[in-house]
Amino acid sequence: MAIRSLETDYLVVGAGAMGMAFTDALVDHADAHVTLVDRRHAAGGHWQDAYPFVQLHQASVFYGVASTVLGTGAVQQQGPESGLQERARRSEIQNYYDDILHRRFIGSGRVTFLGGSEYHTDGTTHHVRSGVSGETTRVDVRRRVVDATYLSPTIPATTPPPFGVADSSRVVAINELARLADAPSSYVIVGSGKTATDGIVWLLANGVQPDRIVWVRPREPWMLNRAVVQPDPTVTLRLAADTMAAATDAESLDDLFLRLEAAGVMLRIDTGLVPTMAKTPTLGVWELDLLRTIENVVHLGHIKYVTAGEIVLEQGTVPLPSGSLVVHCAASGHQYPPLVPLWGPDKIRLQTIRAGFPCFCAALAGYVEATRDDDQERNRLCPPSNLPNSPPDWAKMQVRGNLATRRYGAEPDIAAWANRCALNPARIEPSQRDDPAVRAAATRLADVAETGLTRMAELAREQLTIGDED
Ligand SMILES: Cc1cc2nc3c(=O)[nH]c(=O)nc-3n(C[C@H](O)[C@H](O)[C@H](O)COP(=O)(O)OP(=O)(O)OC[C@H]3O[C@@H](n4cnc5c(N)ncnc54)[C@H](O)[C@@H]3O)c2cc1C
Repeated sequence: MAIRSLETDYLVVGAGAMGMAFTDALVDHADAHVTLVDRRHAAGGHWQDAYPFVQLHQASVFYGVASTVLGTGAVQQQGPESGLQERARRSEIQNYYDDILHRRFIGSGRVTFLGGSEYHTDGTTHHVRSGVSGETTRVDVRRRVVDATYLSPTIPATTPPPFGVADSSRVVAINELARLADAPSSYVIVGSGKTATDGIVWLLANGVQPDRIVWVRPREPWMLNRAVVQPDPTVTLRLAADTMAAATDAESLDDLFLRLEAAGVMLRIDTGLVPTMAKTPTLGVWELDLLRTIENVVHLGHIKYVTAGEIVLEQGTVPLPSGSLVVHCAASGHQYPPLVPLWGPDKIRLQTIRAGFPCFCAALAGYVEATRDDDQERNRLCPPSNLPNSPPDWAKMQVRGNLATRRYGAEPDIAAWANRCALNPARIEPSQRDDPAVRAAATRLADVAETGLTRMAELAREQLTIGDED
């Protein structure tokens, strides 16, 4: 097969949320050509294979790319989330990324998209092979290679269940729920995260009675109350102040989370158990009420294997009634690769910088790449943060994210850019700065910020300084 070649300034591998947000900010602030590669045929990454009833767990305005708001920024006027910001569904997210890719990126002539194509490198040369034509393209990169796959989440549709499955058992990814022709006698939902909670809420909304659902919940999760993660500076500042006040007084990590629960920030499903998992997706209180109607919860650790008649777990076995459907919601989602400098000698590895909000972080990296010319300085401004899995990780994320925010926020141009960027949850419109409620919340945060961060670092066993290259 012939090898053709193309030249580009930036080769961005991965057209998911991170690659799209980085590219968008880069082309907005630098005169550069980008070649965007993805083995999928469209932009949007994992959303292309998500279950049909998925929604963002957070407000739409916090997701997507910096140049173009996802959705309308409207507050929901009806339904159980009345008063909270709209959250996009799968089709809206897919359409949004399709529009950004084709109209804004390709239409500008500054971005080439190689879809359905696999990226390979031997460390020196970069190749992209089309799965359709079989043709390989050598990509000559004038400036940087950008790895926008470093945090790529695993999802049930593309990841096998993390347990054995006997041929005779019925185990499906959550996506299959929306394609069932015959209703099973019962549903066994496997997983403790957002995917599992989405599956249960959807089944209940479709008329499945709670006693037909078995929930295998190996770990108890802490989740964030969606009402406290809204694009409203009073709400955001109050959340930050509640978090730092709880940390200031916390005697232990568990005590920190219990204090946050008392403050209305954290939610847990079973108040008789102390969670050990803290990926902290947001959850509506109405969803929590529904989840608590499931009484048949299996707390016997992770599943080892499933047969036609039983589920064998780490700490015991439970029978599987005939006609049951086991629903795989147990892909890990977040990935936890080592934290490395974003700007490495070989490539840029996109990671989170502030706590959470991956789209904002990737856009920030794009802006900093475009506006600074020294990698040491870029890494100083954008130290990597971690995604959380457990309470200690969550506290570590708060510490690293807070310190990073202070670093990049001290640069006037970055602060001004971030304050215009709707993806940034900490943004405050100039017109809102003198609002008495905003000022009161800011004053309360200032009162507890230092003591809270110091104590949070102790609880997380994390340094109160972050290196430039750790
Ligand atoms: C169900 C779900 C809901 C979520 N909801 C929210 C939310 O509401 N708010 C929020 O902030 N975050 C949310 N997240 C998290 C957030 O979406 C992810 O952290 C983020 O989208 C990850 O995007 P990514 O670009 O890193 O990865 P991906 O979306 O996985 O994109 C990476 C892309 O790289 C491609 N790729 C990988 N290797 C190669 C290769 N060698 N060659 C070519 N292409 C390659 C893959 O095909 C993929 O398309 C959610 C995550 C999930 C799973």
